[in-house]
Amino acid sequence: MRFLYTFFVVFSVLFFSLSANKASAWGFFGHKLINRTAVFLMPPEMIGFYKTHIQFLTENSVNPDRRRYAVEGEAPRHYIDIDHYGADAIYTMPRKWKDAVAKYTEDTLKAYGIVPWHIEVMTDRLTRAFRNKDVKQILLYSADLGHYIGDGNVPLHTTSNYNGQMSGQYGIHGFWESRLPELYSNEYDFFFEKGAEYEPDVLGRAWNAVTVAHLALDSVFRFERELTERMGDDQKFTFETRGRITVKAYSEPFSRAYHTMLGGQVERQMRSTIKMVADLWFTAWVNAGKPDLDALIEKRLSEEERKAIEEEMEDWQKNRKFKSREDDQFEGNLPDKYKNYGYLPNFQWEGIAGINLKNRMKSLKRELCKYPIAPPVVLCAQMQPLKSPVVPAKADTQYDTIILGIYRRVNILSEVARTCELRA
Ligand SMILES: [Zn+2]
Repeated sequence: MRFLYTFFVVFSVLFFSLSANKASAWGFFGHKLINRTAVFLMPPEMIGFYKTHIQFLTENSVNPDRRRYAVEGEAPRHYIDIDHYGADAIYTMPRKWKDAVAKYTEDTLKAYGIVPWHIEVMTDRLTRAFRNKDVKQILLYSADLGHYIGDGNVPLHTTSNYNGQMSGQYGIHGFWESRLPELYSNEYDFFFEKGAEYEPDVLGRAWNAVTVAHLALDSVFRFERELTERMGDDQKFTFETRGRITVKAYSEPFSRAYHTMLGGQVERQMRSTIKMVADLWFTAWVNAGKPDLDALIEKRLSEEERKAIEEEMEDWQKNRKFKSREDDQFEGNLPDKYKNYGYLPNFQWEGIAGINLKNRMKSLKRELCKYPIAPPVVLCAQMQPLKSPVVPAKADTQYDTIILGIYRRVNILSEVARTCELRA
């Protein structure tokens, strides 16, 4: 038991440190870039305050993703599978929440995502925070609002085929929203002619964003398919070493070609996201009666407030009670060709379609030998549902291994210990 614990600690450190900057929807990288850039579009009355807290707004731009598994009802706030309601639903879905509930019921709406409505909810909350001159809430809600706006502008957040799982394009989600921006956003133009502008119709703006994103899906899928046919899987994927792990990733030539075919789509979506974040921050402030933010600059977060926020985040990481999309992805029916790979969910978020099992086993074995653990136990990421964490079928005798499922759950250890017999 003790050695199991040792190895778990080793691996939790290894995996969690590697996965710390990975997530879905614009990736952690994209969300941070969006919130950060939006600060510079704020008007003179706001920019002092926002710049003072730019680091906080950047770092906390991914809180909604962090709490997806810990907070009930969080998951559907990040997307809307609008095509679930029919091919033309993007035009026919009632824009107002009450009307939509009347047509489809609240349960259904919550099951298929509510991002446009939640953008309005968050704008209202931010307005209230401004009215109350509550620095902590202003900051947290500004960061959150930026996140949901970001998600609502991502084409793959507006479809039930959100990861290409229905069209044989598995992995496209993270490819579009994480890998492409990470590779090419340094080439994007983030100069804006206009600063933040007042938005009289927040909900209408949210729906407009979702509609534009949804209509972009056609090229998102079509170009990937065309390019895959042209380049073949050999050129499409590459193996990269990330930290100590070899992962299968979309190759640079494939990424570049796809990015070019999209004709600036990722940049366009990112730009309109940034402008919308700035506009809605500004709108909330105006609706709150334009409180004097310069007077709040001195009211920095107290040490206790900071600590409380950090502790809450830790709780989100620990208490993963609810399912979210990324879990679902790994329980679905995957194409056969992926079944030879071990999957690491956190990497999947980044658009990496798989991990070469053999390579991983080798590198993990090498890693394990550095620790006083015998026999070598190789931990392998698996796509098995949480109900059955142990996957003996994949044991590779060559390496005298037992393959265990690893999940992002911190409490995996007890699950594994209960269900697994370690071979001596
Ligand atoms: Zn999200």
